[in-house]
Amino acid sequence: MPDGSGLPEKSVKTACPYCGVGCGVRMAMQSDMSWKANGDENHPSNFGRLCSKGSALGETLDLKGRLLDPVLDGKNVEWPVALDAAADRLSAIRKEHGPDAIAVYLSGQLLTEDYYVANKFMKGFVGSANVDTNSRLCMSSSVAGHKKAFGADTVPGAYEDLDRADLVILTGSNAAWCHPVLFQRIQKARAERGMRLVVIDPRETETSKEADLHLPIAPGKDTLLFSALLKALSQSGALDQQYVETHTLGYATALARAVELAPSMDRVCEETRLRLPDVKTFIRWFIETEKVVTCYSQGVNQSAQGTDKVNAILNCHLATNRIGREGMGPFSLTGQPNAMGGREVGGLANQLAAHMEFQPESVDRVRRFWNAPHIATTPGLKAIDLFDAIDRGEIKALWVMGTNPAVSLPDADRVRRAMKKLELLIVSENMASTDSMDNAHIRLPAAAWGEKAGTVTNSERRISRQRSFLSLPGRVKPDWWAVSQVAQRMGYAEAFSYASPAEIFREHAELSGFENAGSRDFDISAYASCSDQAYEALDPFQWPAPGGLIRTHGECSTQTHRFFAEGKFYTPSGKANFIAPARPELSVDLSVTYPLLLNTGRIRDQWHTMTRSGKSPRLGRHKEEPFLDINTADARKFHLTQGELATVESPHGQAVLRVNLTDAQTPGDVFAPIHWTGQNASAGRIGALLASHVDPFSGQPEAKAAPVSVKPFQAAFYGFVMSTASLDMTNCAYWAKVQLQDTIGYRFALTSYNGKGANKWMSDLLGVSGTELIQSTDKSNGVFRAAHLIDDRLQAVAYLSPQNDLPSWSWLETLFAKDKLEVLDRRYILAGRSIDGAQDPGPTVCACYGVGRNTLIDAICKKGLITTQALGEQLKAGTNCGSCLPELRSLIGGHDKTAKAKAS
Ligand code: SF4
Repeated sequence: MPDGSGLPEKSVKTACPYCGVGCGVRMAMQSDMSWKANGDENHPSNFGRLCSKGSALGETLDLKGRLLDPVLDGKNVEWPVALDAAADRLSAIRKEHGPDAIAVYLSGQLLTEDYYVANKFMKGFVGSANVDTNSRLCMSSSVAGHKKAFGADTVPGAYEDLDRADLVILTGSNAAWCHPVLFQRIQKARAERGMRLVVIDPRETETSKEADLHLPIAPGKDTLLFSALLKALSQSGALDQQYVETHTLGYATALARAVELAPSMDRVCEETRLRLPDVKTFIRWFIETEKVVTCYSQGVNQSAQGTDKVNAILNCHLATNRIGREGMGPFSLTGQPNAMGGREVGGLANQLAAHMEFQPESVDRVRRFWNAPHIATTPGLKAIDLFDAIDRGEIKALWVMGTNPAVSLPDADRVRRAMKKLELLIVSENMASTDSMDNAHIRLPAAAWGEKAGTVTNSERRISRQRSFLSLPGRVKPDWWAVSQVAQRMGYAEAFSYASPAEIFREHAELSGFENAGSRDFDISAYASCSDQAYEALDPFQWPAPGGLIRTHGECSTQTHRFFAEGKFYTPSGKANFIAPARPELSVDLSVTYPLLLNTGRIRDQWHTMTRSGKSPRLGRHKEEPFLDINTADARKFHLTQGELATVESPHGQAVLRVNLTDAQTPGDVFAPIHWTGQNASAGRIGALLASHVDPFSGQPEAKAAPVSVKPFQAAFYGFVMSTASLDMTNCAYWAKVQLQDTIGYRFALTSYNGKGANKWMSDLLGVSGTELIQSTDKSNGVFRAAHLIDDRLQAVAYLSPQNDLPSWSWLETLFAKDKLEVLDRRYILAGRSIDGAQDPGPTVCACYGVGRNTLIDAICKKGLITTQALGEQLKAGTNCGSCLPELRSLIGGHDKTAKAKAS
């Protein structure tokens, strides 16, 4: 913590702002005053490990592109002016149209304290439950599945179970890329104890390549596979008849449905596209292994039948009493750093607060606790319905905090259009420009990671402190403060007089224990009276922590807590419910017009819409452009070639993506990552391609199965520019940008020079006169190369070609670091090759040491380095965070002759 001198101390313990693993981070100040991220060795979620994203956190702290002042109707203003306007306009809309004309859209990136205040403001005082969150898109099907089966949104187990299990099943999870530290924990247990790993995923991923068994299931068919498993369990000794009879309800109905869905193994294999021996092995392993953990993630949740998929998994664990016991249980891996914290405060529209819903007694309890005059009494609109209501003009005011719905929601173009209809759009944001801010009337500069303080909860119910180690820049303020100020101005000064996040946390903890007495799972009332100092020193702890257990604040609770070991659930009967799922169907069928099924997901080195991870040059080099993974046979059919651009179309929108041929993709299925926005690519918003089909129970939209068409993108010229200044690329038919070491790199394509020659077009783009460029045109192939220098220092390099054959730009990067460009350097820039003939290292595989794919292939093929250890010793690859180890192994497997011979 700051010591009052205005300078941070040397080292601050905090939590990673990215995924739901929730790693502890130690930020250490370096002698040059920069910050370096190290894993916190004492944090029970990661024990000192960080992945590539976490390791690069120190590179993402600059203020480039930040929103530093409140903005009202396009003008920078002081906070009181912006807050008065927000309060006056919200009050006027409520008066004229009622409370349900107001909505708030939150984020799993927010801290629990921010979430708590926003939820209390809306549900308790504005009087509307139209509070939803981007976690709706992430794991609301898990929430719905948990509630149906357990009577509460309870994740029963802990990460420790992954250390103790003998079989781990990852379904709908590319954990090697999306939860890397947890995946390394699984890998460690496999290496030490011979634990087996099964991966259920339609794609071959870096996770599935590591598995003992990969089941490349047809999209949407998970329920069928788990129904076949339940049926097999019923006929095997693994079924715990006594547990089922004593502690559950609905088994017979669920089993009857499973038999109906999976009448024979042949039928199951036909529908799931799986091989019979593989299905039999999966079932046999499950039956014969007592300690089984089934982890599921977005591949299960982001589905129009996500809740049924979750319940099909839970059914199998309930049938075998493999729940709440050491080394076994179903385990929902949350995507965002604080998806769980959002659920705890009631950040979903169908929850009230502290794991209470809208039953009259809960509403009354929360009303009394908050002393809330206008408490909402019925659930509000879930995300998709909420934005539909905006489109219809029913919701007039929206406050967006820490998220980017114009990119991340399905049918994103329609969402963007709908947001333009709002009478009042307030956006609380770190960044000055996002796709969702285009039409914001009020922009509030929000504190970013490193500046804000509070708590987050990870996938295993562990609450950790995020601590500030940077001072608030400009006029930036925490979100809880901004909401409290608006609430005070609307007449609720007493209820929103918070002076610190500690005060909010105490209230949140107190509410969790209020009239609880064991009736609700979420209870952290042991911390209801923790002092500011204790809050500051708070060590990570797992909930529940009920008041009777009063803990010594500041001490780390290392005790692992599991739910349901005693077979007591939160349903009215106290028993768990088996759920009979519906027949698995995709929400939309393929057609002649849209013959391919688009799957979407994350990549290893980027996070959501890249506002933070996109700042790191080493993370950007892993995947530099938005891309489409497509099977070679499909590419041939649709006339696509490796490295070309493709137009991807759905009934809802269009994207232009770089083609990546891969037999990891099953014919008929394609994959595209979700990270690119209108800020970093011309047409990379994958949300624009998705329909807003939702799960009937959770309201979570389908993001894994969208029918699309693909065709070659017609371009006349291809180019790249590396520039020290940001460029306006709107005249390019296609462009994508990436942060490089000293420059911003743009790849682009043109349909014409707009009647200009290459020199004029390029000088216009760079904002210089044609004579300021040194340039050359190769007459044999029409390639144009140019550079712009100021006082012999390189400012920009640009290449343009009529063919899609541009060289790597990596060797050019070093030239930007030179104070003075030599004559020879200039000559080689214009010749298009490096002075020393340096090999193009290719896309980065090891982000920590910047080791590229080509370098690694060379080392494997020419130097015979065919183990990860040998690659590590020679090139350092994989020796820091280890996130790239699966890719190193698959490169070795794909390129080492011995490994290939073995495989064949
Ligand atoms: Fe952060 Fe990586 Fe840990 Fe996730 S696994 S919390 S991204 S360091």
